[in-house]
Amino acid sequence: MGTPRETRAEQAEEVIERLEEAYPDSTISLRYSNRLELLIAVILSAQCTDERVNKETEHLFEKYDGPEDYANVPEEELAEDLNSITYYNSKAGYIKNSCETILEEHDGEVPDTMDELTELSGVGRKTANVVLQHGHDVVEGIVVDTHVQRLSRRLGLTEEERPEAIEQDLMTIVPEGYWQQFTHLCIDHGRATCTARNPDCADCVLADICPSAKGDSEIDLASGEPW
Ligand code: SF4
Repeated sequence: MGTPRETRAEQAEEVIERLEEAYPDSTISLRYSNRLELLIAVILSAQCTDERVNKETEHLFEKYDGPEDYANVPEEELAEDLNSITYYNSKAGYIKNSCETILEEHDGEVPDTMDELTELSGVGRKTANVVLQHGHDVVEGIVVDTHVQRLSRRLGLTEEERPEAIEQDLMTIVPEGYWQQFTHLCIDHGRATCTARNPDCADCVLADICPSAKGDSEIDLASGEPW
């Protein structure tokens, strides 16, 4: 197996340095032009690819202009407008309810605290972190999506399984100035090389420090199962 750096903090720093070099333009891939659009795009992106979300929001954001439009539309119509998205019925409900709360309790503005955001329908800590980081320039934590979850475990940065616990672990070893960028780097590397089913370890810039590297290691540390 690859040999990780001595401490998890050193491992995290080495991973960041190499991935930054490999993906210098790494950033969020969802398209939006204001905070509400960002919130909606992130809600839609759960269990769905950013590419698919971007395609759907192109026409959605033309039809709906502010929280009133989403709050006032019949839920079935909104669901129909989202029908290429996974779980579109539930997500239509989340978006409509969130916009009602935004109008009733936040003067029509997307709130800027973790507590207020996570009180919105369909908004967990991950979604709230993305909205805080990219909508309000507030970095309170690390967004742990499926790529961050998988890569952090494969690379020996955490042994936790739940995203919330992984986030707490990562916050102790990833330098605070990189909390936002760490996620984007993991997502880019997770899409390009360290994919869920068939990671290309032979062509990976992290192979020599990765304790899961195929060929060297029998085990995928993300799942704990043999490759
Ligand atoms: S592609 Fe292979 S070597 Fe690279 S980080 Fe993923 S599991 Fe490790």
